Formats: sequence, structure tokens, C-alpha cells
Amino acid sequence: MMTTTVCIAVSCDTCGDACRDEERGRTVYFGTESEALEWLSRSGWHVTGNGRALSCAQCVAERTCAEHGHVTRHWADCECSQSSGHHQDDDGRCTRQFTWCERCLTLVHRDRPAVPGTREVA
Ligand SMILES: [Zn+2]
Ligand SMILES: [Zn+2]
Ligand SMILES: [Zn+2]
Repeated sequence: MMTTTVCIAVSCDTCGDACRDEERGRTVYFGTESEALEWLSRSGWHVTGNGRALSCAQCVAERTCAEHGHVTRHWADCECSQSSGHHQDDDGRCTRQFTWCERCLTLVHRDRPAVPGTREVA
């Protein structure tokens, strides 16, 4: 018996990433278009034009952050040594804080606000 198997592979129009199964770390292929579209919407991809244009979740997140700013909540103080070149306050503590954006997972940093607890949009 001979069978022809057609499988559908999708990739992001922006960064060119193929969609991947994060758990297994390999490219995912689909048997049907609707299967692909369902997986994409479940995985946070943006699908426009019924699959003609695709953006992976990471690109969607980065675009959203570029427009609206990063999502930052839990800032951690930088614990660098004196020689890092970071700015230090009068007590010799580094004034830098960092966190990972909850949306695009980019490392962002800021200067520690003068008043503790002040929220600042990065
Ligand atoms: Zn992408
Ligand atoms: Zn972000
Ligand atoms: Zn530092």
C-alpha cells in the first residue's frame, strides 16, 4: 500500500521561527489546516487572514511590549560588586534593579526609585 502524507508546518512571519513543541523541543507538524490553526491559537500565536499571516507568541508579546511597555512587577536589587561600574548610592549599594518582563520575558532594568515602593513604568 502506498500512501501520501501531507503535513503542514508553520513558521512565524516575523522571526521565521517554526512552531515548536516546547516540551519535546522539536518542530511540530500538523495533518490538517484546522489542526494547525487550533494549535496556534492555543499556543498564543496570532493568526490573520485564515493562516496566511502568522506571528509566534514571542513576536506578539514583543510587539505588545513595544507599544504598551513591559509588564514588570517584582523588581530585584542588583547585587553586583563594587567593580561592576553600576551607579551606587551613598551607602555603596547598587542603584540598579532588574526583572524579567512577564509578557515577553526580556530582562529589563531600571534605577531603583528614590522612594521605596514607587511604581515606575519601564
Ligand atoms: Zn516570531
Ligand atoms: Zn516585555
Ligand atoms: Zn549593579
